[in-house]
Amino acid sequence: MIFRFWTTIILVMACCLALGTGLILQSHRDLQASRRSLDSLAAFRIALDVANRVSAERGPSNRVMSEDPDPDGPSFRLLRDARAATDAVIERAAGTPALALSIPPLRRALATARREVDRLGDLAVAAYGMEDVGAAAEGMFSAYDATRLLIDRGIEVLLDTETDVVGRALVMRMLSELRDFAGRLGSYLVIPMVHGQPIAPQDLLAFHRTEGRVRELWQLASQLTGPSSDRATREAHAAVAARFMGEGMDLLTRSIDEAQSGAYTMTATDLTASIVPTFRPLEELRDAYIDATIALLETRAAAARRSLFFVAAVSGLALMLVLLLLVASQTRVFRPLLRARHRVVELADGKLDETAEHTPPHGEMRDLYDALASLRTKLIERMAMTEQLRQQAETDGLTGALNRHALERLAEKMTQAGDASQRISTIMLDIDHFKKINDTFGHMSGDEVLKETVRRLRAVLRSDDILARFGGEEFCVILACDENHAPESAERLRRAVQDFPYQLETGQTVQVTASFGTAQAERQPGIWPRLVAAADAALYRAKLEGRNRVASQDLA
Ligand code: GH3
Ligand code: MG
Ligand code: MG
Repeated sequence: MIFRFWTTIILVMACCLALGTGLILQSHRDLQASRRSLDSLAAFRIALDVANRVSAERGPSNRVMSEDPDPDGPSFRLLRDARAATDAVIERAAGTPALALSIPPLRRALATARREVDRLGDLAVAAYGMEDVGAAAEGMFSAYDATRLLIDRGIEVLLDTETDVVGRALVMRMLSELRDFAGRLGSYLVIPMVHGQPIAPQDLLAFHRTEGRVRELWQLASQLTGPSSDRATREAHAAVAARFMGEGMDLLTRSIDEAQSGAYTMTATDLTASIVPTFRPLEELRDAYIDATIALLETRAAAARRSLFFVAAVSGLALMLVLLLLVASQTRVFRPLLRARHRVVELADGKLDETAEHTPPHGEMRDLYDALASLRTKLIERMAMTEQLRQQAETDGLTGALNRHALERLAEKMTQAGDASQRISTIMLDIDHFKKINDTFGHMSGDEVLKETVRRLRAVLRSDDILARFGGEEFCVILACDENHAPESAERLRRAVQDFPYQLETGQTVQVTASFGTAQAERQPGIWPRLVAAADAALYRAKLEGRNRVASQDLA
């Protein structure tokens, strides 16, 4: 049973471990995945920032190319600041392992574009044509196109993580592109405005193509950032719809109509001042959407952490409970049971002494130990009763001496186990004229005489001599000592009997004597009847020779 119990416990522990480990690994994997997603998203955000910066550098570039050179003027300063901001974020991207490889082509494209901008920026506006500015602007567009590689690389990294995050990253890219295309629409307009000329046909075409893409992208992004999103995203979405898609696009379409004829009602600076603020909500929408995605991943990571902690705690607790069960079953069940079994065997073997065993304080085990204690008490009572019965069975009721049956059993035992070199001595005695005592003083007084005779015999005998009532007023003694003292002992007994008169309860006294016959033999099996016969014969002789005397007979 213990074996089966242990097997079960080990199985339960193995199950707990397997289940716990499986769940812990799963939660750990989830946690790692969320962390990886967050890292990848951080890299992706840097890629988006680069794209945004490169796109935003176009405004100050256009401005420098629209004015006569003034290196200390506000336009040059703005361009220097914008470039510093772009370089800083490109530096960060270069330090991000996932993006580093896509940086050199971007740097090359950007350097080429900047060189062209710087070349025109150092000349007076009158020194170059609208086509030169258009070419420089194209260079800046190419630099932006190079950032697409970076963004694609960011999405690739995200692909290794969670697929729904990739979906969200695609939306972010759309919003980033949207912002860039919005800027391009402005660029196409500002260049002819500065030169006061109608827009070139190919630029008009590019404007309409870009406008089409802006509306297309907004339609797509709109579905994904609209009503189902979180509050910040929803609000940013509404702002884009009102400001950029509403006011901004209206202004741009109005201006493009004017650009076709070259009759402008506002300056390039006014247009820039009015249109640039309407791009802002696009950036805010993109940022809100990124923040919402980060929050989503952080919530997932937190849930994975909680679940990891919970599973670890529950598994640990389950294992601890099983271990506790194991220890408790050992100390509270098996050990007490084994002790109880041992105790039952002890009781069956008659070992009834009180044990110092610790009794379990409560529960079924306590009942078991109480039952064992009451079994012990019952056994003690029964043993006492058995002992009493045995004594009763072996004792003569009147005198308290052994009865003949007990005498014979003892004698058999002594001669059976006897060593032939040892001797056995017996004395038979019979009260003289006992019938007359009965007749004279009554049967009760006869009983008193029998009891007093036994008392007097006992007073002389040693504690290990055996005294038995052989029948009527006849007694038999087996001497403990194996030397040839039987006649002397018999003589001492005889004197004790006749020593002084017996005091009867009636107040009368009576002189009592007894006759003795002794016999001795070597101890050997089957000798007892012959020994008794010999002692009896000697007694008979003592009677014949006048009573109140000792006669001896020796067996060969
Ligand atoms: P002897 O000297 O030859 O032995 O003579 P006796 O009278 O002692 O012998 P007998 O055998 O004639 O008598 C024994 C008597 O002992 C007979 C019987 O009534 C009496 N007796 C036997 N057992 C008891 C007993 O338990 N109580 C009493 N009061 N008398 C008993
Ligand atoms: Mg007799
Ligand atoms: Mg007699």
